[in-house]
Amino acid sequence: MAVAQRNALVTGAARGIGFATALRLASAGHRVLLADRLEEVHQSAQALRDQGLAAVSHVGDTATPAGAEAAVSAAKAAFGGVEILVNNAGISPKHKGAKYLTVETPLAEWHEVMRINLEGPFLMARACVALMCERQWGRIVSISSLAGRTGSRFPSTAYAASKAGVLGFSRVLAEEIGRFGVTVNCIAPGRIETPMSGESGQDVQKSYAAGIPVGRLGVPDDIACAIDFLVSDGASNVTGAVLDVNGGVYMN
Ligand code: NAD
Repeated sequence: MAVAQRNALVTGAARGIGFATALRLASAGHRVLLADRLEEVHQSAQALRDQGLAAVSHVGDTATPAGAEAAVSAAKAAFGGVEILVNNAGISPKHKGAKYLTVETPLAEWHEVMRINLEGPFLMARACVALMCERQWGRIVSISSLAGRTGSRFPSTAYAASKAGVLGFSRVLAEEIGRFGVTVNCIAPGRIETPMSGESGQDVQKSYAAGIPVGRLGVPDDIACAIDFLVSDGASNVTGAVLDVNGGVYMN
């Protein structure tokens, strides 16, 4: 059966998991807007267009009220709306490769992590849900983390709290809008090889990989494949769920 072509918006799509997701969704035939605060998002979208895929780029901070509205407006201008929203933009601050312990954490860093990782998904979803509900079809997938599911050594308490917050936010939103044909789900990735996880250094990556049941770190496309399923028509009965993609590190 042919896959219906939808309009998708992926935040944090210049690189890493967001870029892999944009590539996979566009390869499946969807029209994708890649949003990021990095200018390099233009080259990322161009790389997709070079493969004959439907992709446009938008530069801006998607975690401010005006920035979220601007990203959604750009998708409306390009494709007429957003049917698939992937809340992927996130930060995990490191200082010389390591997190700040709670006692060292400046309040400003706590606020910035909450703003980007938790307020961002709220603002983006708020900007999209009315149209999705009106059209009786929508998919929202937000990237949480293993750190939002269970204890974790490497990320900060702010990061873990923000990613646990995304889970609670998504479950209640799923309750609110399920009857309109809009599903809301989360992915909780384990350690994935991206610029973000690379900040901890190769020694950490190697020792972490040694403890993973499948014997390797995740790659961005592992997450993109899970998202590809959750946004499909076949996943219309999956909502309020958390899909763990972590190589078996945490089994729930
Ligand atoms: P990354 O740092 O490689 O990419 C994140 C992208 O988000 C960057 O391009 C960045 O510019 C963009 N971004 C950040 N804040 C933004 C904002 N306010 N507005 C617009 N764009 C913004 O990170 P990644 O590893 O690809 O992570 C993607 C998501 O997956 C994040 O939410 C992260 O917390 C989550 N995650 C990653 C891992 C991992 O091991 N890499 C594990 C669990 C969860």
